[in-house]
Amino acid sequence: MIPRQRQPKPDPRVKDMPLEYLACREGSHHFPWATAKRERIREGGRELRRTVRTCDTCGTVRIDVYNTRTFELVHRHYDYAEGYTTAPGTGRMERTSVRRELFRRIWDEEEEEKEKKEVNA
Ligand SMILES: [Zn+2]
Repeated sequence: MIPRQRQPKPDPRVKDMPLEYLACREGSHHFPWATAKRERIREGGRELRRTVRTCDTCGTVRIDVYNTRTFELVHRHYDYAEGYTTAPGTGRMERTSVRRELFRRIWDEEEEEKEKKEVNA
């Protein structure tokens, strides 16, 4: 991988986003199978299986429909948690911008707190 030399573009949208949303945007959602809602459906004469799984990090719901014989994915739909998606036409959030905000919240602020305590000790 070629290292990038530039810093991420400042993206003010990351500031208002909950930590859980940033975590899913930086990595990926986690849709557990154990708690999946399951049902058999018929569509166009085909027997299909539908699963509804909820991300246990951010609450986004993924609805998958599978071919019963081949187990191939027929279609997929996401119902995003409120505030997860960005306004239409505003472009993608760069993963590096998301990551910088995550580091700022869970790493830099922790270090700053630690430094403050050391100064005040
Ligand atoms: Zn998620």
